[in-house]
Order: sequence, then C-alpha cells, then structure tokens
Amino acid sequence: MSYDNNNIFAKILRGELSAVTVYEDDATLAFMDVMPQSPGHTLVVPRYPAENLFDLDLTAGAAVLRTVQLVARAVKTAFNADGIMLNQFNGPAAGQTVFHFHIHIVPRYENVPLRRHTGDMEDSAVLQEQAQRIRAELARPGA
Ligand code: AMP
Repeated sequence: MSYDNNNIFAKILRGELSAVTVYEDDATLAFMDVMPQSPGHTLVVPRYPAENLFDLDLTAGAAVLRTVQLVARAVKTAFNADGIMLNQFNGPAAGQTVFHFHIHIVPRYENVPLRRHTGDMEDSAVLQEQAQRIRAELARPGA
C-alpha cells in the first residue's frame, strides 16, 4: 500500500479536520485520541507523510520520539498514571486503522483494564478538559 494523502491524520495535519491538540512543532503534532483506551490517551504523528514504520524517514522518527517523550512525561503527571504504554501498529493485521504513522501514549494503572482499541467515542468537552491538563503540565517551568 502507498501513502494515501486523504487519511484522517493527513487531513488533521493540513487543518482540514479538527483535533484536540496538546503540542505541535515543525516536525510533529500531538492530539487526543477520540476513542481513548484510558483517560489522557494521546497520539503523536510526524508531519512527514509515512504510512507506517517501514516508510518513515528516520529524522522524522527521531522528532516523533522526542515529542513522545515530552508528551508522555506530561500525560503521566497530569493523569497520575502508574505507567505509560506506547503502542504503534503497522498494517491492518497488526491493528492499524489509520494509515499515517503514529504512536499511542496510553496511561496505565495497576489492575485497571484498558478500554477497547477504537471503542467508544469520548465526549469532546471531556477531551478538551483533558488536553488542557496536559498543556498545563507542558507549560510548567522545568517540565
Ligand atoms: P491505529 O488503530 O493504531 O491506526 O490507531 C488509530 C487511532 O486513531 C485509534 O485509536 C482511533 O481511536 C484514533 N482516531 C481515529 N480518528 C481520529 C480522529 N479524527 N482524531 C483523533 N483520533 C482519531
């Protein structure tokens, strides 16, 4: 499969679809997953048009990892998580449903099961409030 410019995340990157953004820079964008597996579930994408790991430019990959580390720290603090799980799927057989490379940041708690992958849509006001908590953490001096 080759990169499809009309995938949902490409549209978000071009500003054609809205997303609840928590962080952006020249190379990456981080926004709330609309079907979170846990409160605070965030996605990080490169602006670089890669479908998956196999066509990802490694400079773009390094920028994604930098943003993942920054945002994961903020999510862990903002949601008082016991741990942070990163997920990254390549191909439908592996669970990929949106064909623009992305890394999931998912807060985890001892003995708390996850909600289903691409399960229920979260209320947009809830996502906005959660994003605000992450942005506030990112803005904290020294964060
Ligand atoms: P994957 O299955 O790894 O390709 O993950 C795609 C993720 O994108 C899923 O967790 C979806 O809940 C999420 N998702 C789908 N559409 C949107 C959207 N418009 N904004 C934010 N997240 C989305």
